[in-house]
Amino acid sequence: NVEITQLRERLNISVRCGSIPPPILSFSSCNLPTKLLHNIESIGFELPTPVQMQAMPAALDGGSLLVAAETGSGKTASYLIPIITHCTNSSNDELSKRKPLAMVLTPTRELCVQVEEEAKLLGKGLPFKTALVIGGDAMAGQVYRIQQGVELIVGTPGRLVDMLTKHDEIELDSISIFVVDEVDCMLQRGFRDQVMELFRAVPCSQVLMFSATISADVEKMAHSMAKSLAIVFVGKPNK
Ligand code: ADP
Ligand code: MG
Repeated sequence: NVEITQLRERLNISVRCGSIPPPILSFSSCNLPTKLLHNIESIGFELPTPVQMQAMPAALDGGSLLVAAETGSGKTASYLIPIITHCTNSSNDELSKRKPLAMVLTPTRELCVQVEEEAKLLGKGLPFKTALVIGGDAMAGQVYRIQQGVELIVGTPGRLVDMLTKHDEIELDSISIFVVDEVDCMLQRGFRDQVMELFRAVPCSQVLMFSATISADVEKMAHSMAKSLAIVFVGKPNK
């Protein structure tokens, strides 16, 4: 389709492998829950950034993605908005019986804190609770919070592996979205095996991976986690 190709060119978006929906030009054209749309406005996001224009509809469509876009381009909301939409639409009603529906891995505690903060802002007023699983805080409190009922777990690979080894009572069988943020950084820090261990512990049907740069190693890991993967580049190539 010529129009879609031209639109992507104008937005500096290129898509490799797989077929994904066209970019959306406004948050309101994504069929998001009304309350979520309202929260996006309250935060002050008027227009989606280019990565959000392409990654959001693709993620909402349910496919697995590897997205490359520079730091500061708005990658966080591009996966949090589809996660919150999925959680809102699923019937995870009774609080005490809620099970996690999505897991987000980031390489550092600080990033996890930032991602959880943004998730809380976007999910305000919705049946959407989050748990942070990072070092530095008592694990018991983190386990307790998950057992009380949350939709999203945000954590670092090391701490999550540690927690799941010690607490096999934590049920992950409802997780369908698995996000690996800063894949390049994960690999540089030697977290590959832990990420893969978590991936294998979760029966996810959709893997969303984000990276500032894409190397052969990043692509290899992404392909190993998703049978059918679309690769999206946004902005000027990094190399
Ligand atoms: P990345 O993960 O790509 O480095 P972030 O998701 O951290 O980028 O976003 C960078 C900054 O841009 C954050 O402060 C975030 O709040 C802001 N931001 C994200 N999306 C939008 C938007 N649609 N409109 C305005 N600001 C945005
Ligand atoms: Mg980021």
